Amino acid sequence: MPILDEKVDLLYDAIVRRNPGEPEFHQAVHGVLDSLGAVLAKESRLARDRMIERLCEPERQIIFRVPWQNDRGEVQLNRGFQVEFSSALGPYKGGLRFHPSVNLGIVKFLGFTQVFKNALTGMPIGGAKGGADFDPKGKSDGEVMRFCQSFMTELYRHLGEHTDVPAGDIGVGERELGYLFGQYKRITNRYESGVLTGKGPAWGGSLVRKEATGFGAVFFAERMLEARGQTLDGKTCVVSGSGNVALHAIQKLHDRGARVVACSDSDGVVHDRDGLDLALLFQVKEDERGRVSDYAERRGERARFTRSGDVWSIPCDIAMPCATQNELNARDAATLIQNGCALVVEGANMPVTPEGVARLLEAGVAFGPGKAANAGGVATSALEMQQNASRDSWSFEHTEGRLAAIMGNIHRTCFETAEALGVPGNYVVGANVAGFLRVARAMLALGVI
Ligand code: GLU
Repeated sequence: MPILDEKVDLLYDAIVRRNPGEPEFHQAVHGVLDSLGAVLAKESRLARDRMIERLCEPERQIIFRVPWQNDRGEVQLNRGFQVEFSSALGPYKGGLRFHPSVNLGIVKFLGFTQVFKNALTGMPIGGAKGGADFDPKGKSDGEVMRFCQSFMTELYRHLGEHTDVPAGDIGVGERELGYLFGQYKRITNRYESGVLTGKGPAWGGSLVRKEATGFGAVFFAERMLEARGQTLDGKTCVVSGSGNVALHAIQKLHDRGARVVACSDSDGVVHDRDGLDLALLFQVKEDERGRVSDYAERRGERARFTRSGDVWSIPCDIAMPCATQNELNARDAATLIQNGCALVVEGANMPVTPEGVARLLEAGVAFGPGKAANAGGVATSALEMQQNASRDSWSFEHTEGRLAAIMGNIHRTCFETAEALGVPGNYVVGANVAGFLRVARAMLALGVI
């Protein structure tokens, strides 16, 4: 066993050397490799056929120029990315992120994670991720549209319902997907609904897709609590972020009788002791594209907004990081533990640092990794692809039922895999091993690909 761990270490060093200056990608790879020791020892073919090296090398990486004009007619320039990581299980599938922090390393970490997440859903989808270092914040609708049109004018040649099917991620929602789909349709002269997911329900989208990541993460949290003989009812929760994932996680927690007392954005944290007012929060964040400080102002005495506030210092039973990568570190984990938090579930991709995860696991806090817990978004994207392929549209109830069943299956898979490996309750190992084996076995069957 130690010998193999040493081998994994050598593989990891080689991957770091081969992909310099990409710390988030290294972190995501390390997280998966850390779980694989026992499996590699049992299945010698995985090492012999260089499965890890192959899985850590994207099938294709595309980087492109995105020129566009702002409202003053000035030429602007951004960089676009599409990393097609794995098509072993189906067409490349993953979201587009528009955020100034986007670079190749971040897109690769997201694409790599997406491969295993998508495998865990049990749906026929490969893994990819894309995006641009474009900041939609403060841009007019016209500017966002011109940017999306320019972005798609390059990207379209790589896409297709059987080839590569993007969706949204941070900074890309229904508005951006509309502009992207419109441009794809013009260039190709095809109403190819299945080429993008997260579309508006009026033009080929699926009901529940918008809610799916947040709802799915709460369904996963429920299953984790159930395994410990508990429910969400009456629990106090803290959710970071206030974007699509956070809002719908808050909504479902509220439906289940939990009290969500805080959320945040990049400007600060709002603490609402009696529980967030859902209608007001959705109005400010979704309808008005406002900030949580606007929510706090409208809520008056009851809510407190702190600019440099720390969302993880607010006492809670359950914490759901739903904003972005590496937003909860070891110090935050220690604070949560000290305050009696018993469950942490990742709604975002890799929001808890490796040191944070280690602290939580050591303290016996139940921890749901994003690969498993936030897979509801992409799973519902696969349901959208099914509806598009059959030119059908399902009811909200039916689609939500399918999502709940998928999240239940993912939970069971992770739980049972961890038990079988002798690490009961360790969803990190369960998710990594189960996801890896699904992809690796398909690749072995398909020859040297
Ligand atoms: N961006 C989402 C994720 O991280 C959804 C991807 C999709 O629906 O394709 O899983």
